[in-house]
Amino acid sequence: MEKEIMPAIKAAAAAIGNGDTASSKLVERAFERCRAKEDDIHAFLELYESSALEEARAVDAAIKGGDEPKPLSGIPIAVKDNILVSGRIASAASRMLESYHASYDATVIGRLREAGAIIMGRTNMDEFAMGSSTENSAFGPTKNPHDLSRIPGGSSGGSAAAVAAGECVAALGSDTGGSIRQPAALCGVVGLKPTYGAVSRHGLIAMASSLDVIGPITKTVEDAEIIFNIIKGIDPFDSTTVESNPKSEIRNPKQYQNLKFQNIRIGVPKEYFGAGLNPEVKQAVEATLKNLQDSGFMVQEVSLPHTDYALPCYYIIMPAEVSSNLARFDGIRYGLSEKSDDLLEVYMKSRRKGFGDEVRRRILLGTYVLSAGYYEAYYAKAQRVRSLIKRDFLRAFEEVDVIVSPTTPAPAFKFGEKSDDPVEMYLSDVYTVSANLAGIPALSVPCGKTGDGLPIGIQLIGRWFEEDVLFRVGKEVEH
Ligand code: GLN
Repeated sequence: MEKEIMPAIKAAAAAIGNGDTASSKLVERAFERCRAKEDDIHAFLELYESSALEEARAVDAAIKGGDEPKPLSGIPIAVKDNILVSGRIASAASRMLESYHASYDATVIGRLREAGAIIMGRTNMDEFAMGSSTENSAFGPTKNPHDLSRIPGGSSGGSAAAVAAGECVAALGSDTGGSIRQPAALCGVVGLKPTYGAVSRHGLIAMASSLDVIGPITKTVEDAEIIFNIIKGIDPFDSTTVESNPKSEIRNPKQYQNLKFQNIRIGVPKEYFGAGLNPEVKQAVEATLKNLQDSGFMVQEVSLPHTDYALPCYYIIMPAEVSSNLARFDGIRYGLSEKSDDLLEVYMKSRRKGFGDEVRRRILLGTYVLSAGYYEAYYAKAQRVRSLIKRDFLRAFEEVDVIVSPTTPAPAFKFGEKSDDPVEMYLSDVYTVSANLAGIPALSVPCGKTGDGLPIGIQLIGRWFEEDVLFRVGKEVEH
């Protein structure tokens, strides 16, 4: 819809690079747009207007002075509030970290800056990235630019809404169980969850460390590709990062670059199109698959037999890791601190005041599944199920190169519709959590709209480190 207000990265960077336009003009336009839209949408928790304009003028001056333009020279980018930007608040939309100032740039921020990007503000999210609607933000929800009575998705709802509303050129989000792809789908923009280990999480406020990934939310597949290529790669500060997968069974992405469509095989998992899928979403995804087939892709059915266990497995492993990651916010080491003469009281009061209901629910669940008497029955079992889910994908990827599904079971829902029923809310993640459990990349691309004009997203899931193949197919979906 309004995303055309902001240009795509390549065109904008080229225009800024050859002096046809100025970064300061583009950045000013972004802030003007924010002034016009933010009262309604509330995508941002904070705008960095003066520093962004200053940086933009510096880019303009450098280019005038003959500096070589960079791939993101002067491009305004918004950042989810759980990614550290030096000197700025990073609250993860929680009272707990409301006044925490980051003392360094996350690796991804450093890489964006090196590529010339302008960081223009921090975006709203569900508290500590737990949620699917931004209703769990301690600072009020973000609204869907396509329909203000509806949620933008979550947890990176602010980033997706900002891109959709034309308030920035692109944004960063984080994805633990769908938090980039689900809001991208519901806001009609592109979202990439990279392969686990492809992008450094140094400077990301951790939610569930075996699942968390940072990735781009953009208007086009090409923009997502550009940002991914800038932020990916080994980082000595995150030992889970790798350059490419050393396993021999994994094919080299390079070989796909000039590959004909006829050689890319698309798998449609039968388990993803059953009960619970909204008919309009189903129709849009099936129509897109038909178009892909018509343009030469091979399309065949595949099976991911453990799909039914993905959500229960995720909702055991994720809270377990949440309970351990969030233990540091105790009123002493980090975050909000309530006074008392008694140490235990300090912990209890600080955590009670600092955390919202959903965060507390997950800490309780996680502590329970890790506790001595239940560890084997829940956590250890979920880890074994996780291996089965991963094995499903390994098997399917022997037959096909990309797996295609809806990104979400339904279009954006209304505020309050699911907030009283956590399980209903968790069901929004039914198609997205598997890729996190398996560690594989997945891309959501807009593929149509409902009769009411609500965006629908299609999800392309690939082999480990084969983001290139997803971009290739994603561009075809776009066209
Ligand atoms: N909606 C999912 C959850 O609530 C995913 C969150 C995420 O990816 N950060 O856990």
